[in-house]
Amino acid sequence: MDKKLITGLILAGGRGSRMGNVDKGLQPFRGKPMAQHAIERLLPQVGSVMVNANRNLERWLELAAPVWADETPGFAGPLAGLEAGLRHCVTPWLLAVPCDSPFLPPDLAERLGAAVEQADADLAFAVTREPGMRPQPHPVFCLVKTSRLPVLSRYLAEGGRRMDGWYADLKAVEVLFEDADAFRNINTLDELQVLDASLPPTLANVVSCLSGYDPDALPVRDAQRIIREFVQPVRAVEQVALRAALGRVLARDVISPIDVPAHDNSAMDGFALRGSDLRGDAPVTLRVIGTTYAGNASGLVPAAGECVRIMTGGVMPEGCDSVVPQEFVTQEGDTITLPAGVIRAGDNRRFAGEDLKAGSPALKAGRVVRPPDLGMLASLGIPEVAVQRRLRVAFFSTGDELRSVGEPLGEGCVYDSNRYTIYGMLQRLGVDVIDMGVVRDDPQALEEALRSACENADAIITSGGVSVGAADYTKQIMAKLGDVTFWKIGMRPGRPLAFGRIQSNGRSAFLFGLPGNPVAVMVSFYFFAREALLRLNGADAPLPLLRARSSGAIRKKLGRTEYQRGILAPGADGHPEVRITGSQGSGILRSMSEANCMVVLHDEQGNVAAGDMVDVLVFEGLM
Ligand code: AMP
Ligand code: MG
Repeated sequence: MDKKLITGLILAGGRGSRMGNVDKGLQPFRGKPMAQHAIERLLPQVGSVMVNANRNLERWLELAAPVWADETPGFAGPLAGLEAGLRHCVTPWLLAVPCDSPFLPPDLAERLGAAVEQADADLAFAVTREPGMRPQPHPVFCLVKTSRLPVLSRYLAEGGRRMDGWYADLKAVEVLFEDADAFRNINTLDELQVLDASLPPTLANVVSCLSGYDPDALPVRDAQRIIREFVQPVRAVEQVALRAALGRVLARDVISPIDVPAHDNSAMDGFALRGSDLRGDAPVTLRVIGTTYAGNASGLVPAAGECVRIMTGGVMPEGCDSVVPQEFVTQEGDTITLPAGVIRAGDNRRFAGEDLKAGSPALKAGRVVRPPDLGMLASLGIPEVAVQRRLRVAFFSTGDELRSVGEPLGEGCVYDSNRYTIYGMLQRLGVDVIDMGVVRDDPQALEEALRSACENADAIITSGGVSVGAADYTKQIMAKLGDVTFWKIGMRPGRPLAFGRIQSNGRSAFLFGLPGNPVAVMVSFYFFAREALLRLNGADAPLPLLRARSSGAIRKKLGRTEYQRGILAPGADGHPEVRITGSQGSGILRSMSEANCMVVLHDEQGNVAAGDMVDVLVFEGLM
């Protein structure tokens, strides 16, 4: 159906009683009035858009015109709004949508229009169906023949109010839409806020918070910040046995079910005694009434003047609050004597719950589980934990010049090394990898690869094709598939970077288009992709930079970040000292191989003199 035949109608005439009697559609959502989202989605689908509202008409007029109030008195519901719209509609068709449907389908008019034409119907409305549920009609999303106004007016005049009641005698057809979320409406301010906070931001949202944003001269810090704000953790949790949690990200806080230690106990091998028996200025002699070992309570209850021999970890006997280490006492028969002042009351006793109280968090969500954490969880008797599902990352290389190992290397070709570097770096992050090989510089091949990656992975890493080069279609296709931005970052090596989120067939994935040069790939991966991937997987793990002394002078340009490959070792005085490896060209992968760290020289830093302190990123543990 020609869109000029349709007028869009935003139904915004409700009382808003569940929103505290405010105009729902004027409430801010994602930085603009909620109804504006619906208007913006509807506009491209129809000839023009009008609004039905009963209050704040001037404000509504700022969003769209004309604005019509109900003509049936008393807030008679959406049908009264529909009636007002039909009365003023000058096109043969009217498409109504509620003002609180910011996600309405982009093909709503097209599909409803096709359905009425095909069935020669008076009206078409949307239905959705969740798996295993009955179809749910959405009669407020309807395309109506304008000439059917009298039927509606009669229904209203007779007191009818049901949205799906007025067209009983008309020919109405249902149109099934797959995406139920597109019809989601928002009823309360709380819902609005929760939804607003839970929705992923757009790149434009994120970038708008940055002053002086210039994609062609973006400081490293700003790029990192944009990425950090844009990337939202994937919410998918699985329960795994304790050992399998090693290297995984905890999805929830682990709450200790017990006190650690479970009892007051001894920190020493010695004698448990009552502090009240100690005398500050004189030796004390006590009678030993028995022994208590770690692992079982003795049941012994010493009286005044008595003590119990106790081993480290032994449960403190009732009434005892101090332990004197055995090396401080002289023993004779069943008595011990301790000199004056060797201990004070309360010494060498560990309290129950001193390390960890029952009910308090032992480990926090977001933590990457390491060996001591496994031990700690075991010490709490916890057999399994909730961890984030492993992130799935697809990657491929782009370039007609690339050959894979095993293939002959033709004239002007190079072996694809990036895919191996990236494979290694991803493995070290503990994600599941999907290696998609080399993709030619061909629009169709690139689109297919990106779509397939998007449908099968949470994130996509590509290399090559994001710089200025005639044969590179990568940028074009990336931009076509979603919210992707292309940066020139103030850094060396690795200036170009593509970043964003793409969609394909209802799935989406974050995209990192790394540069092609082999060293630039690694630098961009560690300083941009790594933290984002970890964050996607629910972990908060910024890169640990250390300080070290530079053994030599380093030339450095102000106003950009430079990453130099270095070798870190103890200097003559034993303090860490770093020297730069030989050639630093961005294609020289050997410089990375020889290095054991990267020297990070920040934007505001100029030339480095020998002996100056610099930041380094140590590879050990990272790679
Ligand atoms: P591009 O950004 O695609 O122009 O690539 C920049 C440079 O990196 C070119 O010299 C490419 O040949 C090289 N390059 C791109 N991808 C790879 C790769 N996967 N392995 C090795 N070198 C590559
Ligand atoms: Mg290329």
